[in-house]
Amino acid sequence: MPKKVHHVVRRTGTRLEDPIIEIPVAEDIAGVPGIPQIEKDVSFYSREYPLETQNIEKAADREWSWSVYTPEVFEYRELHEKANAPFVEAAATTGDIEPTVEPVGRDITEDIRRKSYELGFGDVGFTRYDRRYAFASKKRWVKFQGAICVALEQDYAQTQSLPSLEAEYAHFGTYETENEQCLALADFIRSFGYHAQVHSPNDNSAPFLPMFVEAGMGQLGANGQLLSPHFGSRARLAIITTDAPLTYDEPVDYGVHKFCQECLVCSDRCPARAITRDKVWYRGVEKNKLIYDRCRPVMSTYEGCAVCMKVCPIQRYGMKPVMDHWVEMGEVLGKGTDNLEGFSIREKGYFGPGELPSFDRSMFEFPKGTKDEWLFAQFKEKVDDGEGPTAEETSAFLTELKEILAKGTTTIGDE
Ligand code: SF4
Ligand code: SF4
Repeated sequence: MPKKVHHVVRRTGTRLEDPIIEIPVAEDIAGVPGIPQIEKDVSFYSREYPLETQNIEKAADREWSWSVYTPEVFEYRELHEKANAPFVEAAATTGDIEPTVEPVGRDITEDIRRKSYELGFGDVGFTRYDRRYAFASKKRWVKFQGAICVALEQDYAQTQSLPSLEAEYAHFGTYETENEQCLALADFIRSFGYHAQVHSPNDNSAPFLPMFVEAGMGQLGANGQLLSPHFGSRARLAIITTDAPLTYDEPVDYGVHKFCQECLVCSDRCPARAITRDKVWYRGVEKNKLIYDRCRPVMSTYEGCAVCMKVCPIQRYGMKPVMDHWVEMGEVLGKGTDNLEGFSIREKGYFGPGELPSFDRSMFEFPKGTKDEWLFAQFKEKVDDGEGPTAEETSAFLTELKEILAKGTTTIGDE
């Protein structure tokens, strides 16, 4: 017998002229709009333990990643970084550009929405930029209060080949396009007399996902990704902040928060066992937690991995078919089938439902923290082991430390 429907979410399609899509949310997975959170805890952690960008906090492993890429991935990543760098650099200073006309003095939300679709974005939403999520090193950089959240879909077919070089083309190619589109959208906003600051997806000012959820553009999946009603976890996210008058959207309950606990395919299929099955409260938010130190080496070694993206039924089949199926059949569409759960890993082979690759312990030994922290940790290990350090090693350590500090501890790039 079909389940009782609690409410139906109505969303515009991925183009303005598309028909409205209707997503039923069954009674047993209805929850709260957005994400369960304790506001005072979110504020506390933001104030006392502000987040920091991985470009700084995880700079050691980001640099190390390049040493485990295959030659093909290495070559492609170099090409991508070269092609993408001008966009990322341009975005960094967009907040300083003055509009050349006087402000039109009216709400321009619908103008921006229309232009976003024209530029090729598949979804757009509006909310307040939540400074509680801003990275410590970016708090002063963020200038304006209104946040325009734009989502660009990465290619469907290439995504289904994850993990693969083909899928990396989709992943990084989408960022190149998105950066360019964001710069164009910022120009458009300035033509109304308002400022526009582009927050590149490759030099984030914050985790963008909470603001996308607040703008009603999806909910947080157990895989740690935005589950968009249009592209599941295939959405690549960017934000533009502005002082233009905007009308903000509201968070939505798509039923994802509870549905994930019925599904858990991403957690079961993660080759690194890096996604917790149970939800935990973390920094004031209830969610399944990704264990970074388990994910990172597998992701870097195996073409970005992202099995957790590939096997998500909402990514593979779309949110509406998945939620329709849940209402009608009480099952997670595709769960337990090779079609959804199967994946291949280079040199390890194919893994169907119930099968996972195994890795040596050495897979999970990799540089941690910032570059200077990692260098210091290695030096300290030598001291603790009573192995040294020799005068030459001490001198080499100091020279390298000096170089790191002179160059800066940041590694700009994308994941
Ligand atoms: S990227 Fe791979 S290793 Fe990391 S969480 Fe996803 S499935 Fe697991
Ligand atoms: S695979 Fe299932 S549990 Fe994981 S994010 Fe997708 S819907 Fe949620």
